Amino acid sequence: LLYLDHLASTPLDPLVFEAMLPWWAPGAVGNPHAAHAAGWRAADAIEEARAEIAALVGARPGAVVFTSGATEANTLALLGAMPPGGACVVSAVEHASVMECLPELRRRGHRTATVAVDGEGSIDLAALDAALTGTAGPSPSLVSVMAANNEVGTVQPLAAVAALARRHRALVHSDAVQALGTRAIVMPALDLDLLSLSGHKLNGPMGIGALVVREGVRLVPPSQGGGQQRGRRPGTLPTPLCVGLGAACRLARGRAEEDGRRMAGLRDRLWTTLSGVLPGIRRNGAADGLAGCLNVTIPGIDAADLLLGLPELALATGSACRGDRAGPSPVLLAMGRSASDAHASLRFGLGRTTRPEEVEEAAARLIAAVRTAGVYPS
Ligand code: PLP
Repeated sequence: LLYLDHLASTPLDPLVFEAMLPWWAPGAVGNPHAAHAAGWRAADAIEEARAEIAALVGARPGAVVFTSGATEANTLALLGAMPPGGACVVSAVEHASVMECLPELRRRGHRTATVAVDGEGSIDLAALDAALTGTAGPSPSLVSVMAANNEVGTVQPLAAVAALARRHRALVHSDAVQALGTRAIVMPALDLDLLSLSGHKLNGPMGIGALVVREGVRLVPPSQGGGQQRGRRPGTLPTPLCVGLGAACRLARGRAEEDGRRMAGLRDRLWTTLSGVLPGIRRNGAADGLAGCLNVTIPGIDAADLLLGLPELALATGSACRGDRAGPSPVLLAMGRSASDAHASLRFGLGRTTRPEEVEEAAARLIAAVRTAGVYPS
């Protein structure tokens, strides 16, 4: 298998695997919330992990609330941190786990607004200002804008978003899932109140993520029945997964910049190869976006069909999180692309472990499939 779908999920780093192993071993026992030595040892390991996660984003360890992943972290941010009576303002290209909170917020009586993006997927700051003005009420609003888009890789101007939100007394949440592996996202420097991250996008384990919550931000837990994590997200913590997320964050902190540089080089070479061979191919998203992301439209292809014929080449047609919903990508539509262009688009997701030969081989397989489909003369 040629795996270039790292924006959907990354392989576990061997060092993360090693860090987790003792906690999976049959002899490892102890509820981390229990008051005995086994519980304390697990709790200590979890606290170390919390500190690593916090360090990656410039927060304090107590700010880290473990969740089952970023879907839950985003939901917890939007539904749990929403000021009573406030409005919620998001960009038009947010992940489904943000977008699909909006109907629930409206049911709860909140006003919501979705802010347009430009042709590259970057948020329109004047429209954000207008949305914050238009939805303003007596309570503060909550703004949610992702650090980088998972389909086209565009990196959002978070500092400017936060500065604008502050002028309107709004809280700021960012889904930083995709950016953290290759870019520094420091909450105090960007003035963020809430940030979501996910283990399996950072060469860490699946099934674990975190919402990082600035002190003073009120969080209403979604479930009852336990005081764990100071009641902010009750439930017994999974020690091996928490340890794995901590190890993944420690690695990301040490190597994100170098990984980003290397992956951007591979991505640019891939684009040069494809654009040199496939006339009419277009790139979606900003050229200086996520290092591992290349989203292209190849006019005339049906991307889903093409990829079905290439099961040993793992690419994507859009967000895996939209599951079986096969309609055109809402992200590409929000960027002004037509539905037929969206159906002709696919995404390469390069990762930490991607080698140059893999990128070349992937390009060759894709080009051959496009030619076989009869879209271009060979
Ligand atoms: N946010 C973004 C931008 C994503 O790309 C994803 C995963 O695809 C998620 C949130 C959801 O993360 P998880 O799989 O941890 O629920």
